[in-house]
Amino acid sequence: MLDALSERLQGTFKRLGSHGKITEADLDVALREVRVALLEADVNFKVVRDFIAAVREKALGQDVMQSITPAQQVIGIVNEQLVEILGGNQEPLKRASQGPTKILVCGVKGSGKTTLTARLGLHLKSQGMRPLLVATDFERVAATEQLQVLGQQIGVPVYAEEREAPAPAVGKRALREAERLNANAVIVDTRGAVALDDDFADELAALADEIDPTEVLIVVDSMTGQEAVNLAKEFDEAVEGTGIVVTKVDSDARGGAVLSVRQVTGLPVKFITTGERLEALESFYPDRFASRVLGMGDVVSLVEKARETIGERDVKDVARRMQRGEFDLEDFLQQMEQVKKMGPLSGLLDMMPGMGGLKAQMGGASLDEDYFKQTTAIIQSMTMEERRRPDILNGSRRRRIAHGSGTTPADVNRMLNQFNQAKKLMQAMTGGKGSGGAGGLRRLLGF
Ligand code: GDP
Ligand code: MG
Repeated sequence: MLDALSERLQGTFKRLGSHGKITEADLDVALREVRVALLEADVNFKVVRDFIAAVREKALGQDVMQSITPAQQVIGIVNEQLVEILGGNQEPLKRASQGPTKILVCGVKGSGKTTLTARLGLHLKSQGMRPLLVATDFERVAATEQLQVLGQQIGVPVYAEEREAPAPAVGKRALREAERLNANAVIVDTRGAVALDDDFADELAALADEIDPTEVLIVVDSMTGQEAVNLAKEFDEAVEGTGIVVTKVDSDARGGAVLSVRQVTGLPVKFITTGERLEALESFYPDRFASRVLGMGDVVSLVEKARETIGERDVKDVARRMQRGEFDLEDFLQQMEQVKKMGPLSGLLDMMPGMGGLKAQMGGASLDEDYFKQTTAIIQSMTMEERRRPDILNGSRRRRIAHGSGTTPADVNRMLNQFNQAKKLMQAMTGGKGSGGAGGLRRLLGF
């Protein structure tokens, strides 16, 4: 999924180098590559143009931080801007304040509407709601049966009429059936068309009038890229959409549709679907998606895993300290111990932003236990004062610590450099002072 784009961007950032200050010329070269990568990923050209302009402005306006590499800094800004074009915050499915929540699913033929109708049914059912699925597509052969089979599979009732009738009339009767069944969610599947002609637009609009939907979800097939995005805009004009669902993201190596659709239509992406199984429905989180694009996708999983293993309070506390720049060696030690509980280190390092380099520096997978032991030993040989205020660690203290931990002063220095690097990076990731950073981690952690 999105592998092509992800690889291109990572290649670009690698070439930005890991030393020194970023110059305007370096930045322009990198941004030119980012632009090409996005265009090749089939992102809408206007979206790309605005994106590049925004990243450039932010990058030039930002203080250059010491000890954070230009590449990391640019990645931070690109990440932030990706989150922005994807809509910023996650937008959950709206619920009706009165009466059943009504969802109208529309889009072109074959985009995944019927499957999505069932998926939403399953999703709402798993949240304790009582959904009713409604078939209004008489055009496609066996469309009704398709929905009935899916409904049966997930144990959700389906309202379908045997004889062909105008969709708005079917919708009206379906609402009555929902009342009779005491359903509190009604999800209406519609027929698709290849293009949105006037008749079809009128029919959809009449159906929407009849149902008065809480949500009008427009389905965008990511495999058809910009064509699907432009059609989504037309659908929005015809039926006033409230949200987008991008389907088949699993089969799309490019990602252009997801990355463009918010900016082109102005509608929030509410879900993506990532497989044929009915469970393959994901709430859309702009920050998580941006991380995936940048190949830092597992940061979220990492944080979620950390939450489960460590408990939410600790994670938030540490994150707050990171953000304030108060993260010290004692925190570092505790973090290491908690990370150890989470599983093999080499896998975890891959999940952490910027830690891939550390891993390479340390000699790859072999570092796991040794690295932990050594770092732990070094920190444990420090006094509490030294752990809290690493800046007091002068040469003689470092020698004493090396001696106490059975390491060399060079080992101590390397460990301290890594700590400082990690601290800077964490501050940037959490949007701490001086970085204008991504704020991604902060958003993830919900504070
Ligand atoms: P509709 O014509 O808009 O109702 O589309 P359908 O719901 O019938 O789906 C068309 C095809 O796309 C079916 O074969 C689905 O299994 C497939 N499909 C839908 N969503 C996804 C997805 O997220 N990933 C993949 N790989 N296939 C999907
Ligand atoms: Mg269908």
